[in-house]
Amino acid sequence: MENKINLLNLTETELTTLIESFGLKKFYGKQIFIWLHKKIVRNINDMTNISLKDRAILMEKTYIPFLNLMKHQVSKIDSTEKFLFKLEDGHTIETVLLKHKDRNTLCVSSQVGCAVKCRFCATGISGFQRNLNLSEILNQFYTIERRLQKQGKQINNIVFMGMGEPLLNLENVLKAIEIFSSENGVNLSKRRITISTSGIIPGIERILEKKLPIELALSLHSTSDEKRSQIIPINTKYPLQDLFPVLQEYQRQTKRRISFEYILINNFNISDNDLAYLADFVHNFDHILNLIPYNPVMENDFERPSQRKIDKIYQYLKEIRKVNVTIREEKGADIDGACGQLREKILNNEGRMRNK
Ligand code: SAH
Ligand code: SF4
Repeated sequence: MENKINLLNLTETELTTLIESFGLKKFYGKQIFIWLHKKIVRNINDMTNISLKDRAILMEKTYIPFLNLMKHQVSKIDSTEKFLFKLEDGHTIETVLLKHKDRNTLCVSSQVGCAVKCRFCATGISGFQRNLNLSEILNQFYTIERRLQKQGKQINNIVFMGMGEPLLNLENVLKAIEIFSSENGVNLSKRRITISTSGIIPGIERILEKKLPIELALSLHSTSDEKRSQIIPINTKYPLQDLFPVLQEYQRQTKRRISFEYILINNFNISDNDLAYLADFVHNFDHILNLIPYNPVMENDFERPSQRKIDKIYQYLKEIRKVNVTIREEKGADIDGACGQLREKILNNEGRMRNK
């Protein structure tokens, strides 16, 4: 593969330029794009409206990459599926498929590891390796979409809530969003795509500039800069004090609801005061607040609150403070549904792995 060009790493314009440079007809650019991104074929030979001669040229110079499925787990509790993929350079990433009655949501990774290094997050703890390229982002979707299509199903929503900070790999994430939402691609509305971020201000501003009608989720976890910086180190660079006006401007211009994620960590961010400030904070926005009970992913001092406490917090926010609040159901608890966990386990057990 080394000298061949990765076809899934190209935008439609780049693809067309490449096709022309091979002496192929320009309109093949669009046709090939449709084969790659709408019909999501795995082999150049499947592009049946391209002549055999031209397919041979493509095969000589280019290839369609695929992700190597190392492990596939299905939750017995709620049929959440978790996929561990090996990349061409040996790194691994995970993708989670959340199945609901009427829709399927794919949780995709944007980076190998993460440089933000949040203290509660397994991905963050593992450090940053590299950004995913465009094809690696697209292929998480395409690989799983092909499996679903065989069962007469499809992916309806994408959330960038897997490994990595999507706004720190913005170029590739934006290209992927354009392709996912392209008429010549799987044609998924941008409104069905969510970016979750730890609060990278320049990235949020860029989305605003481009007027992308995607969903934005902010990982809040504390409304106090002092506490937030303890668990999300990048808060010292982009403190809430600066983030807050940016989010307000975002909402003023887009008129779109903002999601806030709030991990419930015992003895850290769930005191009466914390919750009162949290309610005040979100009421500045047309909001939805997702409470995520902390998922113990590794050795550390964090603890998940008791179920009784979680229920009380929910009642207070909902009934007394009229917050638009949900508790994120714990999906795939038996297969380590949370961010970054499967990869950790596999890395730790590599010697004993049998699954392919
Ligand atoms: N980097 C982005 C998106 C990936 S993380 C972000 O931080 O928003 C997706 C969500 O999982 C974030 O809200 C994150 O805070 C949460 N998360 C990470 N580790 C967790 C854990 N151990 N328990 C519960 N939620 C966790
Ligand atoms: Fe990175 Fe998000 Fe994990 Fe923080 S929570 S380390 S930003 S992936």
